[in-house]
Amino acid sequence: MKNQDTFKKLVAATTVGRRLVVLGGGESGVGAALLGKQKGYEVFVSDNRQISKKYSDVLLQHQIIFEEKNHTESKIFNADVVVKSPGIPDTVTLVQQLNKKAIPVISEIEFAALYTEANLIGITGSNGKTTTTLLLHHIFKNAGVNVGMAGNIGDSFALQVAEESHENYVLELSSFQLDGIVDFNCHIAILTNITPDHLDRYDDDFNKYIASKFRITKNQTATDYLIYDADDSAINMWLKENKTNAKLVPFSIEKKLEYGAFLDSNNIIINITKDTITMSISALSIKGKHNTKNAMAAAMAAQLLKVRKQNIKESLEDFEGVEHRLEYVAKIKGVQYINDSKATNVNATFYALECMDKTVVWIVGGVDKGNDYNDLLPLVREKVKAIVCLGLDNEKIKRAFGNIVDIIVETAGAEEAAKVCYKLAEKGEVVLLSPACASFDLFESYEDRGCKYKTAVRGL
Ligand code: ADP
Repeated sequence: MKNQDTFKKLVAATTVGRRLVVLGGGESGVGAALLGKQKGYEVFVSDNRQISKKYSDVLLQHQIIFEEKNHTESKIFNADVVVKSPGIPDTVTLVQQLNKKAIPVISEIEFAALYTEANLIGITGSNGKTTTTLLLHHIFKNAGVNVGMAGNIGDSFALQVAEESHENYVLELSSFQLDGIVDFNCHIAILTNITPDHLDRYDDDFNKYIASKFRITKNQTATDYLIYDADDSAINMWLKENKTNAKLVPFSIEKKLEYGAFLDSNNIIINITKDTITMSISALSIKGKHNTKNAMAAAMAAQLLKVRKQNIKESLEDFEGVEHRLEYVAKIKGVQYINDSKATNVNATFYALECMDKTVVWIVGGVDKGNDYNDLLPLVREKVKAIVCLGLDNEKIKRAFGNIVDIIVETAGAEEAAKVCYKLAEKGEVVLLSPACASFDLFESYEDRGCKYKTAVRGL
């Protein structure tokens, strides 16, 4: 970032009386505002949309000045530092103008990291971030480690730094959050995988998205670790062509590794310290190849931070899984209903279909972020007997699968979809909601979609 020098100088200087402008009054913005206020900044929050009541109440309560449905330039261009919500792309005029004026624009995680000495474990990737973050947090908690969890999950990192003080943080990091870092570093970085997603924010250039994910390692040193999926071609390609200072800690379900985590028939072997961990896949509470990988990544991070192997194994056995991720909903007349509403891209759905061992009635559709359905064809051919579309525009799905699946039904709501599935599925089969698409055409969010589906299923 070309503002880096300015930013470093700014941080070195006292913050009292300096002006912090926060763009975006959501979770991260309000967290940054609170932390800024606590550290003595004069804070102003600006959001060109309506700020939700939950957050405007917090700002009022802390006497932080804010504006909504507007960006008043005169109140923004006098900032000493700007914290930008990860939802605002760098390309918007306001940000470009700030860049021109050499006013540092950073992300909330960068800002929060300035004010904590804690050990940071950052988790990024196209899929598996939340699951791995929650799993690692669970392992730490069970082992009695003083740990907070933040980032793209729950409270913002800045809010946690302002209100709590942990020795370790497990941070779920999106590529948008990583785009706004300058000096931010994590002692342990986990890169779960990289498959095309959010390409609309990266000029439809997969390489730009890959580079964004790898920013997680950009400030790592030789005493830091990068845990990564060694089966992932995009990751391997980047590592071949670029350098990281971190120690590489791979995991694989396809090949044996001298150092890292791998499979030996049905056992996970983790071979990064003298204390090798061996654990049967069947003992893992979360199922599917993708979750085996998530478990490997979390277990290695925990072991690198000296959690005892017995604690790690027990935690992998009793982790409860995460709502909307291959979540078991109910069994009705011998048909199992599964909610994987968080599968908002093709890769997540690939793993969902892959771990189905019964004939599937598949609910798919929504807002397509440039999906290429080709990767799914073999699995759909093998396992799916009927497709129930749950989206406004289903043409692409009909075109992709029309030749290989006999039954394709279009629906426009969770209740209708559940009812159609109830008619189509027979005893011993499974109904899987794994949409491969975002939800905004028919629902507020993937959570809303998953909850409405669960309610509809339970009402059958
Ligand atoms: P994220 O936070 O990166 O979106 P989640 O843990 O919320 O990841 O999972 C999102 C979707 O991806 C779910 O459908 C889940 O079943 C699937 N998934 C989880 N882990 C992986 C993985 N390692 N590889 C591919 N898909 C995964």
